[in-house]
Amino acid sequence: MTVDETSTLRMKERDLRKHQFTGLVEHSHHLLRCSACGRDLIDVMVTEPNIQETFRFRADCPHCGDHSFPSEPITGGVYLGPAEGLDWHATSVVGDTVYVSLVKRTK
Ligand SMILES: [Zn+2]
Repeated sequence: MTVDETSTLRMKERDLRKHQFTGLVEHSHHLLRCSACGRDLIDVMVTEPNIQETFRFRADCPHCGDHSFPSEPITGGVYLGPAEGLDWHATSVVGDTVYVSLVKRTK
């Protein structure tokens, strides 16, 4: 095993501990970007894959007023992480799609 491989392993171990500490284990990330202006909107992180609920996610873009394309269907309990400079505002569920509305963070 090379030095690089060892340090990568150590990093993974540390990340795992960090997540155990916060109670969040990220199983997959689904980053939604605006379909019009291309900015990052929200990171849908599956944290509880055992929850058998499947939704698509779509986020409104507070920058240009458009929105992201709907994500692929995502199964599991999720944590919604707004992109830098944005705050979660509200969600509504219509059919199998969760519509996320975001606002620009005011400092
Ligand atoms: Zn946009």
